[in-house]
This record gives sequence, structure tokens and C-alpha cells, in this order.
Amino acid sequence: MEFTEEEQKLLTHFEKNHKEFSKLLIDAAVLITQSQKILYFNQSFALLVKSKPIEIKKKPFLFEKLKFPSEQDFSLEELLKSPNPQRFDEVQLQVTGNNDHLNVIMSHYPYTIDNELIGHCILIRDVTAEEALQGKYQEKTRLSVTDSLTGLYSRRYFETWLQEEMKKEGEVNIGVLMFDLDKFKHINDNYGHAAGDFVLVETAKILKKNSRSTDLIARYGGEEIIIFLGSSQPKGTAIAAEKFRKSIESHVFEFQGKVIPVTTSVGGSFIKVSTEDPAQVIAKADGCLYEAKKDSRNCCYVNFIGIPEKASKYIE
Ligand code: GH3
Ligand code: MG
Ligand code: MG
Repeated sequence: MEFTEEEQKLLTHFEKNHKEFSKLLIDAAVLITQSQKILYFNQSFALLVKSKPIEIKKKPFLFEKLKFPSEQDFSLEELLKSPNPQRFDEVQLQVTGNNDHLNVIMSHYPYTIDNELIGHCILIRDVTAEEALQGKYQEKTRLSVTDSLTGLYSRRYFETWLQEEMKKEGEVNIGVLMFDLDKFKHINDNYGHAAGDFVLVETAKILKKNSRSTDLIARYGGEEIIIFLGSSQPKGTAIAAEKFRKSIESHVFEFQGKVIPVTTSVGGSFIKVSTEDPAQVIAKADGCLYEAKKDSRNCCYVNFIGIPEKASKYIE
């Protein structure tokens, strides 16, 4: 490759300071001029652009090797204007002749000689494989803590979550709401098991939609769902119980052209301090659920003072 006097100056400067080091890098390293002419590259760069060294030398411009899709914050042109070293995470690039987008981390080291910016050493770290792996693990984790039908958290997950919450010192203030769909056997028998599954999935969606980010919703059993209301108070817990109950009652469940009437009974209790036994508090909510079933169904009972009461008592 022929070099102009200025290019030779840049190359000499790079060789003196960074060349040996760049050989060791697993990152792709490339030394370019302001016009993107490649003066030096390491083996990792050749691997990244899927070219033999001789091919790179034949077409020695970076823009002939790499493209940066325009719909992103990163722009190579902007980088080339910068006299200060910078690092850009989450950059997408495409190798010429290849449709795949790579996710990379880019950093650059600019060279100025006599106050003039004459080139840059660019380091490119391909993190595509790591990101794919991370996504796979995240999905695995999500699946291991959620119920496959409804996508709600599993019982195992909420039990672990609750154990952690109960480790807090002093007040924990968690509202506990247990839901059991009314006459669900009847829904299965009259509309079919698939319709029953549909009702469960829809119910989960409605509860999620009406919940706050501090609430945790889990599938407790067959058609039983439990919600933990973070940073709550007894009155707020009673209000939430009614809000959730109404959201199910007013929703139109339509499956294969048939409208299925769906209601739920709700039992509520409250964990004030971390010294309480959560199993007992859940049992209290369960007891309230029983009261709601004994009453008219499609209603809410709460136990905050040692006895089950209608939740409406706490709502003006
Ligand atoms: P109640 O108002 O007293 O709660 O009456 P119920 O008919 O809902 O009675 P119960 O809660 O005992 O019945 C639960 C039924 O839910 C029994 C079971 O077949 C059904 N079920 C449990 N899990 C699933 C599921 O994943 N899909 C469907 N389709 N049905 C389920
Ligand atoms: Mg049940
Ligand atoms: Mg039921």
C-alpha cells in the first residue's frame, strides 16, 4: 500500500505507541485517516469484516467494509470529527456483502499532530453473541418463574419474593388479595375446557392491566390468583379488592362467539410488620374468600381486625 507523507506520519505515530498492543486485542482494531482510508488493521478486524488481509489492502476504505444503519444515535462521520476519545455502546453495523446486523461497542482514539486531527484508531467489540446468550438466559429465567398458561408469576416465585420482603426491618405494609373465580366448574362444563383456559388468560390480563408496578400477581392454584399490593394500607387494600373484582365483572369475555359471564370472589388481609407469619396472613385472606363464597359470591371480604368483614365497609 502506498502512503502519503501525512499518512506515513500517522502510521509511524501509531506504530510507535499502539501497534504491538493492538495485535493482542480480541477487539477489532483499525487505524484510519479522516477520509476513512485503512492504514493498519489487526487480525480481529479481518475476521470481523470477513475478508482476507490482501482484500482489505485492495479496497482500503472503511466505508467499503462496514455500514452503520442510519436509524441509530451513532454516526461514524460524527466520530471522525471528535478530537477526544469516546465510547459508544449499542452500535449496530453491517459488514458489506452480509445482511446480518451486528451489535458492537465502538471506541476510538483520535490522533492529532500539530493540533490537527489526522486519524483515529477505532476499536470494535462484537457483542452479538453475548447479547443473544443474555436474551436466552433472561427468557429461561422468565419461564422458570412464570405460569405457562397465564404468564403470571408462579407460586414458587411469589413465595421466594415474599420471604425477601419479610426480611425488611419493621413495617412491610403488604396487602394480600386472594381471588377464586366463581362457579368455574360450570364454565368448563358448559363452554368447554378451552373456554375455561381462555377465561383464566383474560382474567390474568385484566388484573395485570389494573395493577400497579409495585403489585405482584401470581397464579396460586387452578383458578385462584393471589395479588400482593406493595406499600399498601388496609383501606387501600379494600379499595383495590373492589376495583379488581369490578374489572372482572364488567369485562366482556367472548370466546368463539359466545359471551361467558365471569365473576370472582375476593378475600383480603394485610401484613403490617415483618414479624408476622405470611402463611397465616394468606390463610386469613383464604378464610375471607370462603366468607365471600358463603355470601353472594362476586364480592370481597377482608380481615384486618381479626374477623372477616365486607370490604365495602372500608370504602365510603
Ligand atoms: P366456586 O364458586 O365455589 O369457586 O365454584 P368453582 O366451580 O369455581 O369451584 P372450584 O373453585 O372448586 O373449582 C375449580 C375448577 O377449576 C376445577 C378445575 O377443573 C378448574 N380448573 C383448575 N385449573 C384449571 C385450568 O388451568 N384450566 C381450566 N379450564 N380449568 C381449571
Ligand atoms: Mg378454586
Ligand atoms: Mg372457583
